[in-house]
Amino acid sequence: MSEYEIYALKYAGPFVRTGAHLMWYRDWDKIETINYYIWCIKGAGETVIVDTGVTPQMAKNRELNEYVNPVEVLARININADEVRHVVVTHMHWDHAGGVSLFPRATFYVQEDEYRFWLQSPVAGRPPFKQVADAAANAYLAAVENTDRLVLLKGDQQILPGIECLLSPGHTVALQTVAVNTARGTAIIGSDCAHVFRNYTEDWPSSLIVDLVGWMITYDKLREKVSSPDLLFPGHDRRLLENYPAVAKDVTRLV
Ligand SMILES: [Zn+2]
Repeated sequence: MSEYEIYALKYAGPFVRTGAHLMWYRDWDKIETINYYIWCIKGAGETVIVDTGVTPQMAKNRELNEYVNPVEVLARININADEVRHVVVTHMHWDHAGGVSLFPRATFYVQEDEYRFWLQSPVAGRPPFKQVADAAANAYLAAVENTDRLVLLKGDQQILPGIECLLSPGHTVALQTVAVNTARGTAIIGSDCAHVFRNYTEDWPSSLIVDLVGWMITYDKLREKVSSPDLLFPGHDRRLLENYPAVAKDVTRLV
């Protein structure tokens, strides 16, 4: 089977967050710093980008001071965003989907239930959801619906040999994680199923929960699928940058 490497690329951060943001309903008096990332899967002649970061305009609107355009971060490892063909959008929160327009030739892989929720459910327009959405990114995806640039996935689906998207709800209606065949077995880019490693090790979700029961069942599913617990990667942990070999500024190889 095709084998890949996984890279984490920081595009913004560090930001200070309260403990209760990272460990749901706990750690009220603690703080921790986190980063914002995209990921790159590379191997077998393919490059797949997981999540998109945000556009310079959105970074300005959200006052992301430590922001670098993801296009520039990708260039540090010789990836030209203009030429990227495959982009997995794990979920449609602004910090993950906001940069879709940075990949003008890509096909985007999104869970159909996630897409329909953000584009069609009246609930998505209510304040708690609206504040984590990016209307411009959603409109960009809507404009390529029904073309070969948008693939709406229904549950677990392989997109390339050795790369499988896994329906992993809890943080959003239909978040998807990405299982990748690596030299060490199956690794999982878990996105915001966990903000930090502790969510997995302590079996405790982070925040912005739409389905707590679903979230816990997702943890069972990911643990069963991954070859080793240390190959299950969270979405915002600063350790993704600190504990792995750097291959360029703010880019590390996770496996
Ligand atoms: Zn996030």
